[in-house]
Amino acid sequence: MNSNRTPLLAANWKMNHHWENCEQYCAALRENLPEYFGASADNPAVVAPGVELAIFPPLPYLSLIYRLLEDSTIFLGSQDVSRYEEGAFTGEVSSLMLSDVGCDYCLLGHSERRDMLGETDADVALKLKRLQQAEVMPVICVGESRAQREAGRAVEHTLAQLSELKDELGSFDLGGFVIAYEPIWAIGTGHNASPQDAQEMAAAIRTWLRDSLNDELADSTLLLYGGSVSPDNIRPYLECPDIDGALIGGSSLDADKYAQMARIALELAG
Ligand code: PEP
Repeated sequence: MNSNRTPLLAANWKMNHHWENCEQYCAALRENLPEYFGASADNPAVVAPGVELAIFPPLPYLSLIYRLLEDSTIFLGSQDVSRYEEGAFTGEVSSLMLSDVGCDYCLLGHSERRDMLGETDADVALKLKRLQQAEVMPVICVGESRAQREAGRAVEHTLAQLSELKDELGSFDLGGFVIAYEPIWAIGTGHNASPQDAQEMAAAIRTWLRDSLNDELADSTLLLYGGSVSPDNIRPYLECPDIDGALIGGSSLDADKYAQMARIALELAG
């Protein structure tokens, strides 16, 4: 972590949890992380602790979680957005709709969507534009397969994903975004990238941002590590100078574990 960037722990629930779990989950966060709660009409500006938390529930529960966390400084994220702005696109949800229901973040290009649902770089680019127009912060997911890592092509592949996205965007004026480095072979498998490998990748991404975009984005962009992160292994990732938090799937489904990880991040953030 670097004191110039506020770390982020993003909880990706995927297609898990139901209405009643949402209530229990938020109640557990309230109990375990009281410093994130307490905003009111009289006191809207509760000082946010030094670590940002964001919950990415399934789409139908966004408004419920928003209401349950209304008096907190915990952010809300969507797992996906439509590439289209508005119109006859049955089943789609636009970036403005996400903004309307209080979404601050949205995942883009998660490997589960790329591999199982056919999401392409062109889709990711269009979605990124839509999100930035609606002022919802994109969390762009990139990372290599096991075969690419074993062939020594992990960094090359991951940077190529970013370059393809940049090419797709053309002259689009890139605003802020978060990048999550998620080696595909580490997602939901219990096999992590070592903190050294994750740091090497994060440093390479930061250099790419500097060389291909600009110094400001290189210095300010949050780089997350994702892939089987848990309370038992999160600490060394957060100690890496170029890693600014984590994108957490399985372990974030348990509010107590998520709160434990937040505690570790808060301790390191000082
Ligand atoms: C993810 O869903 O982005 C993820 C990293 O999942 P997990 O933590 O379960 O590996």
